[in-house]
Formats: sequence, C-alpha cells, structure tokens
Amino acid sequence: MTIKETQLIIDLKALETNFKTIKNQIKSTTKIMGVVKAFAYGTDSVVVAHKLVDLGVSYLAVAYTEEGVRLRNSGIQIPILVFYPQLEELSSLVEYHLMPSVYSFNFLIGLNSLLKDSTVIDFPIHLKINTGLNRLGFDLDELDEIYEEIANSQHIKLAGVFSHLAASGTASQVDFTKQQIAKYKQAQAFFIEKFGQGFLSHLCNSSGIFNYPEAEFDMVRAGIALYGYGNNAAENEQLIPISNLKTVIAQLRTIQKGESVGYERMFIAEKETVIASLPLGYIDGIARQFGNGKADVLVNGKKAPIVGHVCMDIVMIDVTDINCQEGDHVIIFGREHSVLEFDKYQQTIPYEIITRISQRVTRVIEQ
Ligand SMILES: *Cc1c(COP(=O)(O)O)cnc(C)c1O
Repeated sequence: MTIKETQLIIDLKALETNFKTIKNQIKSTTKIMGVVKAFAYGTDSVVVAHKLVDLGVSYLAVAYTEEGVRLRNSGIQIPILVFYPQLEELSSLVEYHLMPSVYSFNFLIGLNSLLKDSTVIDFPIHLKINTGLNRLGFDLDELDEIYEEIANSQHIKLAGVFSHLAASGTASQVDFTKQQIAKYKQAQAFFIEKFGQGFLSHLCNSSGIFNYPEAEFDMVRAGIALYGYGNNAAENEQLIPISNLKTVIAQLRTIQKGESVGYERMFIAEKETVIASLPLGYIDGIARQFGNGKADVLVNGKKAPIVGHVCMDIVMIDVTDINCQEGDHVIIFGREHSVLEFDKYQQTIPYEIITRISQRVTRVIEQ
C-alpha cells in the first residue's frame, strides 16, 4: 500500500487470527467478550466491533456510556457492558440497552430509584466485585446488602457477576492471583445460592486467558490480545499486532559535525549525519519521552533512532546508515516492528502506546 501521510493501518486479518488464538485457548462453550473501549485500543471501535460480532463474540465492552451509544448508533445489537458508567448517564444506559457494571451502592441505589417509577422491568446489570485490584467494585462483606437491594427490585436483573485481576500477566504474582480467583469464587457461590445459575460469571482479561485456564468461568474478557499484544514474551509470540502506524519521510537533510537538531539543541552531530523529518509528533501519540534516542522506527527494513526532542507535529530520526529518499515509508510500529521494538527501553506498556494514537491520524482499514 502506498501512503502519502501518517496513517494507522488497522489489519482486520490479524484481528481475526488473534481472535482464533484466543478461542483456541478456551473451552468451546466459554463465551468471549470483546473489549472495544478507548476507540478499540486506539484503532476504530465501530469497525472492530462489527468485525468481532462477525467473528462470533457474545458480548462487547466499553469503558464509558458514550462509547456504547456510538456502537448502538452504528447498528451493533449484541449485549454491551459499560465498565465505568456514571450515575448521570443512567437514562442513556436504559435508552440504548447498555448494561452497566454496577460497582457501588451509590450507583445501585441510584439505578433502583430511577427505575422505580418506570415501566422497565428486569434491566440487566453486571455486578463488579473487588477482589484485590482496589479500584472499583463491592467488597465481599457487602454481598448481603447487595442481595437485598437487587432482590427487592423488579426493575433490575442480575445478568453477570465479575471481577478484574490485578496481575494476571505477572509471573511473580501467581499466589496473589490465585487468592483473587478464590475470592471471586466466594462471591459467585453466594449469588448462585441466592439467584440460581442464571447469570454470567467472568473474571479473566487477556493475560488471565493465557495463564489461568481454571478461571474461565462462563465468559472471558479479551482486550489487548485481540489487538496483538500480551503482558509477557510468551503471550506476545502468539499474537499479531493489528495497529500499524506508518508515515513518510517529509525531508532529508545532511548536517555537519557540531550542528544540532531540534528544540533546545538536544542532538549535536558527532560526524556528518543524515536527518529525516517525519510528519507526526506528540499530538499523534509519539510521547516526548520517546525523543533523544529512546525509540527506534523502521526505515526500509532498518532501525533508525529518534533524535532530539519529539515536536508537536514532527519527529526527526537519524538515517545516516540507511539508504532512503524523501517520500519513503517509515514504520513507526506495527506487525514488522512491534511496539516493544519501538519502545526499546520499555518505558511504558503496549496498551499506552497503541491507545494514544490520536484521532488526527487517518485510519485505514485493511480487510
Ligand atoms: C480493559 C479491561 C479488560 C481488558 O483487559 P486486557 O488486559 O486488555 O485484556 C477487561 N476487564 C476490564 C474490567 C477492563 O477494564
């Protein structure tokens, strides 16, 4: 594909391969929830959501209500879970048939009082249980109280009970993760005793799918693995990055020993040096922390370091030893040059780099 500007090429074949890899990890009866929050991890949530529906996911998940509304408006009809809804958005949740993750009494009681005088019955919710992440969710000693609140309402139906693992990809945290699984099982058993088996139990994120098959329950929540990354080398090996951020060389310039590049003159040439300027910058998601040699991009198959500070709209790279011309393609990261090679000192995690590709960058869908 010839490109003339910075583009994010979204590889739907790779998405399909990753989906199948995940499917092969789990029992054939286990449902898959495709997590498409944050523009489907920086790609395009509508395109990815529709592809995942075609591939056979049972559920989709977003972080915020607005993201779910967008999917509904694009014609998505399967269940959508909203992980972090706010009380103010309750009426949108109802109107657009979005299932809230209910994580606090404030939210649960608010929901009940909103629905009390309505004709809505059996509005499905998923309860979020805190088993150690200590972010959002009910604690185990609150289960009786939750039960009372749900059992006393005809308007609410328990559709799911879930929790979130804190370190499912971290080898040193196996004991902690097993404790989380045990706590989750306690909550699950409580609600099965009270309500029967009619709700979905789910716990695992991507790394959980790979590392804790005993914790599959009824459904797994796949996020980063769909997009081609895991949380360790073994996971990464099985997956294909779907986000390919590419650009072109806008200008080439040869500078002499002692000359500088960019703001604050951070790079001083030690010898004759060829600099290529690329039309993307920190606004597009190339954080300033990747300047001054902290990241490599790929030019005609060879690695070129970023030199000087990353600017708002431009990045400069050193291509002294690379045969290239103005207009040549540059791969910032993608299938041939993963985020882990771009971020060569592992200053951050693939999640952050791929989700930060700004909306200014043109999305191109590769079927
Ligand atoms: C984002 C998120 C996921 C997906 O996690 P990955 O590590 O990307 O697979 C699953 N569950 C919850 C609650 C999340 O917020």
